[in-house]
Amino acid sequence: MTEINDHTLIPGLGEQLLEGSLNDAALMQLTEATPDYAILPWVNVVKIGGQSIMDRGRAAVYPLVEEIVANLGRHKMILGTGAGTRARHIYSLAIDLGLPTGVLTVLGTAVAWQNAQMLHYLLAQRGIPFVEPEGFGTLPHYLMAWNAVVCQGMPPYKLWEPNPVKGRIPPQRTDTGCFLIAEVFGARKMIYVKDEDGLYTADPKKDPGSNYIPRISVQELLARDLDDLIVERAVLEFMVRARHIKEIQFVNGLKPGQLTKALDGEPVGTIIYHDGGAK
Ligand code: ADP
Ligand code: MG
Repeated sequence: MTEINDHTLIPGLGEQLLEGSLNDAALMQLTEATPDYAILPWVNVVKIGGQSIMDRGRAAVYPLVEEIVANLGRHKMILGTGAGTRARHIYSLAIDLGLPTGVLTVLGTAVAWQNAQMLHYLLAQRGIPFVEPEGFGTLPHYLMAWNAVVCQGMPPYKLWEPNPVKGRIPPQRTDTGCFLIAEVFGARKMIYVKDEDGLYTADPKKDPGSNYIPRISVQELLARDLDDLIVERAVLEFMVRARHIKEIQFVNGLKPGQLTKALDGEPVGTIIYHDGGAK
């Protein structure tokens, strides 16, 4: 019988991994140098905003569903949903009740799930399924057969969500969950569909004098430390360490055609890119 430590069967790095400490800095550096296989390099992860799109109801959602359907034969999409206003309500209630961040995450996940259910039923005639994280093994099949799947955007941390640096709100919500799906599958694109043309120097709803930023590196954006952002800060932090997703794009889902342009590779909206040099 082959012994697990039969070194003739294990390449150099494997040997060191078996014998070394997984906290050894030199060993970590060695694994850094190995490439990641892109599992679904043709898939586009598209996050449909919770408050910015779903909560606006028919006026915003129907045209977007039509645009998604029109793209089904042209692009393959994992459609993740945000949570939105109902999540804000339940967060305020749960905080008032003294419940911890992990419980808030369970509650927020349920709201993103509700939005995913609605999007799924609107797309059901096209054969598009709703898939829970436990069922992600079936994603390749559905993407090949029907070109899209719907999932809820929260990462499935639930009770295990770590506390934020400040406050009580789960720091890794639906923007982050969708980003992590794109990163692990080595997706072609990560597109956020919200209700603004992209990133501004401040929230354009509160500060009409804010300036539009069509393109910026993630490193510069983090360094600017803006008071408010169109995307969860966790996405920017994870993007600095990403091995596949080197840019993310933000388009206005209230403007028909913007999602299609982004899927087609046009520089519509805002692009936040990884400036290869820095880490
Ligand atoms: P989602 O619906 O995907 O959860 P959010 O409502 O969390 O989206 O985030 C989108 C909102 O972020 C926009 O509607 C916009 O008002 C706000 N926002 C805050 N800061 C900025 C900024 N610097 N640039 C653009 N939008 C911003
Ligand atoms: Mg949000």
